[in-house]
Parts: sequence; structure tokens; C-alpha cells
Amino acid sequence: MTLANRPALSVVAPCYNEQDVLPEFLRRIGTVLDGVGGASEIVLVDDGSHDRTWEVLTEAAARDPRVVAVRLMRNHGHQLALTAGLTVCRGERILIIDADLQDPPELLPDMMVLMDQGADVVYGQRRQREGEGLFKRATAAAFYRLIGRMTDVEIPLDAGDFRLITRRVLDLLTAMPERHRFVRGMVAWIGGKQVPLPYDRKARVAGESKYPLSKMVRFAADAITAFSVVPLMASMTIGWVMAAVGFAFFVYSIIGWAFGHTLPGWTSLMAAVGVLGGMQFLMLGIIGAYLGRLYDQSKGRPLFMIRDIVGGPK
Ligand code: UDP
Ligand code: MG
Repeated sequence: MTLANRPALSVVAPCYNEQDVLPEFLRRIGTVLDGVGGASEIVLVDDGSHDRTWEVLTEAAARDPRVVAVRLMRNHGHQLALTAGLTVCRGERILIIDADLQDPPELLPDMMVLMDQGADVVYGQRRQREGEGLFKRATAAAFYRLIGRMTDVEIPLDAGDFRLITRRVLDLLTAMPERHRFVRGMVAWIGGKQVPLPYDRKARVAGESKYPLSKMVRFAADAITAFSVVPLMASMTIGWVMAAVGFAFFVYSIIGWAFGHTLPGWTSLMAAVGVLGGMQFLMLGIIGAYLGRLYDQSKGRPLFMIRDIVGGPK
């Protein structure tokens, strides 16, 4: 792919059983793209839908040359469906958006302006979330705050995958080979100039959320384990505490023995249990520390990413 035939903009949306929203989605995206001007493409990924999503997509592709329909072999889940779309798209700038119109495509012109001003990533930050129950909002708020505490990567609070990114960021993203992909975290990890754009998140235009509790829990677990080795290191902390307590028991039982306040056998038993228990947790923690490093290494992320180099031989 040469630079010359890249469209200026790609819109990428994963679609899972979205037959009811897609006509409205295509209409609204089409209007926004007409307004922005320039060559563009709309990459829609059918994530193994059971409804008429694929028919809707192929009909749209036949009607509108901008539409690129991609169908996965089976349901891979939101993040991998999105990754498939990101791998296929060719644009210079890429708008990541959900198909359900919870994120208004009409924000694109504002995002483009911020990118013209030098942003590498313009991410939508949810001010309000309409049409989402208290449970969804509370668990989402708790999740973003928890992961914020567990990792050094600055993952923005209350931001989904709705964002405009540059080709450079996209290429770095698709070059990261890790299997468990938490896309919004990976984009944050890449860095560069990341600019928020506050917006009010709407209710779904049609259909229902494809994120039941089970998928939400898996998503959160993937996100946390992909970005934090804190759980792996927890046994280290427990180990230190247990070792300290074990040692205290050891001292206590020796003193008790010295003053003759014990039953025969109690001293050695307590000392062995305390010290051995503590040592075991500590050893588990040490294994955790090495496993954490091995895990980091196995993700194969780049060590650093150069943004600019100025000067040097001409
Ligand atoms: N989605 C997908 N595969 C799935 C689940 C969801 O491609 O297994 C898509 C879905 O079609 C939508 C986006 O991911 O475009 C976000 O899903 P949803 O709106 O159901 O999540 P919520 O907004 O409720 O968190
Ligand atoms: Mg949604």
C-alpha cells in the first residue's frame, strides 16, 4: 500500500447482531463523511452475527463504494473484531466507533480539528451516560478507577474505544502482538499527544447491549491482567506479612518454652508452621515476580517508540 492511495479517513466499527442500528448508522456516518470531505472508507466488521447483519453490510457495500464489509469466521468479541477492522483499514486517520450510535459520529469534525492541531489521539470522554442502568455505570466507574490504581499506564477515566487516531499510532498498535487486547489501554500505553473530547453518551439507537455481565467480567479481567502484574505480586506482600507473623510466633513460642508455659511439642510445631507458612508465601511471591517479568516479555511490546528525531547528518 503506497501512501498515495490511502484514503484520508477510515471509520472502523465492530458489529455484532446490529441489523437494527446499521441503516441509521450508515446514514449518519455517511452525512458526517460528506461534510468532512476527502476520500474515506467505512470498515464494518461482522463479528459472527446471528441476525441479518452480514446481509445489511454487503448490501451497503454494493450501494456505497466507501463501505468495506469484513466478516469474521465466528464471534471473537468486541476487542478482536475491532482489531480485525483496524488491521484491514487503510486510512491516514482512523475513527474507532461503536455501531450502536451511543457515540455520536457528529463529533468527527471537532476531533479532526484537534488532530490538525497536533493530537496523535483524540478520545471521547463520557460526561454522561444515558440509557445505561445504575449497575452498568457503577461497575464501569469502579472498573476505570481500579485499573487506574493497578497500572502505571495512564488509561483515561470514563473513555471507551471511541477515538480518532493517526496512522502512526495505528501502526504501532497493530504491531503489538499480544493476544489479550485491551485496545483503549494499548492506545494509552503508546502515548504521544492524547487529547480528550468530552461528550454525552447516548442510549443505544436500537437493539440491546452485547455486553452481558459475563462478558463485562471477562473484559475487566483481560484489561487488568494485560496491564498489571499486581495480582501476581500479591502473594509477595502476603508472604512478607506471613513471614513476619510466623517469626513472631516463633519468638513467642521459644519464650513460652523457656518459661515452661507450654505442652511438649507445641513450641516446635508452632515455630515450624509459622516460619514455613511465611516462607511458602514468600517463595510464591518470588515465582510471581519472575512470572510477571516473563509475562511482560512475552507480550513482545516495543521497548520504546520514537516520536521525532531532529538534527544529525543531512
Ligand atoms: N460487539 C462485537 N462483538 C461482541 C460484542 C459487541 O463486535 O461480541 C460490538 C457491538 O456490535 C458494538 C460494540 O461492540 O458495536 C459495543 O458493544 P455494546 O454496544 O453491546 O456494548 P456497550 O455499549 O453496552 O458497552
Ligand atoms: Mg453500546
